[in-house]
Amino acid sequence: MKSILPVLAVDLGGTHIRAAVVNNSGQLLFREATATLAEGGPSVVIERIISVIDRLLSINRLTIKDFSAVSISAAGAIDMDAGVVTYSPNLPGWRDIPLREMLQNHYHLPTYIIHDANAAVLAEHRYGAGKSARDIVYLTVSTGIGAGFILNGELYAGATGGAGEVGHMTVDMHGPRCTCGNYGCLEFLASGTAIARDASHRIEHGEQSSLQGILTRDGKITAEDVSRAADTGDALASEVITQAAKYLGAGLTNIVNIFNPEMIIIGGGVARMGDKLLNPARQIVMQRAFPQSARTAKIVATELWDDVGLIGAAVYAFKQLAI
Ligand SMILES: [Zn+2]
Repeated sequence: MKSILPVLAVDLGGTHIRAAVVNNSGQLLFREATATLAEGGPSVVIERIISVIDRLLSINRLTIKDFSAVSISAAGAIDMDAGVVTYSPNLPGWRDIPLREMLQNHYHLPTYIIHDANAAVLAEHRYGAGKSARDIVYLTVSTGIGAGFILNGELYAGATGGAGEVGHMTVDMHGPRCTCGNYGCLEFLASGTAIARDASHRIEHGEQSSLQGILTRDGKITAEDVSRAADTGDALASEVITQAAKYLGAGLTNIVNIFNPEMIIIGGGVARMGDKLLNPARQIVMQRAFPQSARTAKIVATELWDDVGLIGAAVYAFKQLAI
């Protein structure tokens, strides 16, 4: 059999750009990363994508001819057919940027672009926790919340590629105002940003917590700090996480009722909290979703973690190349 050239995969996030050589077995052979410097706008970020790819090639003595395609997983609204990033909340200034064409003109290789949650669900379906399943939801819980869907064995991206903005489903009609303008959105109540904000808010209002020292020293608390504090028995930290987990459970209940998936795979930085986040969320689903759907939907953590976008971008490219 003719050997299949690997894909040059890029994961474009608001904080980091990762690039890797991914073969047709989903293995990452080489990798590089750099800071996105998103505040510099599209031209700076695109230069940085090209520089991290070029570094990956030169360090490993590769040339662009060693690849079958370039494939990018990106955060934001993506028109996959046109290869355009139409908008991205994490990438300031990105409006209708024809990223695929720009990279294709630079590298002269078939180039693909896919929304990061769609990439993630493809990766999990092919190589991760969802290998045996036909109906999977991948939920990323990090600074924001988004989802990708495999329905009946196929990626479901929506009519214009915009499906999966589950972070902005209402889980509290009378909740606080979200950055999107709506009220009580899942993302505003259950993301890493929400966990950090709620902990800070409660401490600033005089509640006792071991996080006080971090808040005074750094001026802010991260969701990771809250997780660590919960592990050492900090009651406030545990309460904040349990509260976020319950909202997450409310969001998952809606997803379970709408899609009746076999599996919901939770990724993103906040998923590293593991069962202290997932167990209260699972409990809410069992209490609130339709019983048969609730029993069917396994709620598990990702198996691919930070590599999920890179692997998913490669899976998408190999599919497009019809390999
Ligand atoms: Zn919102």
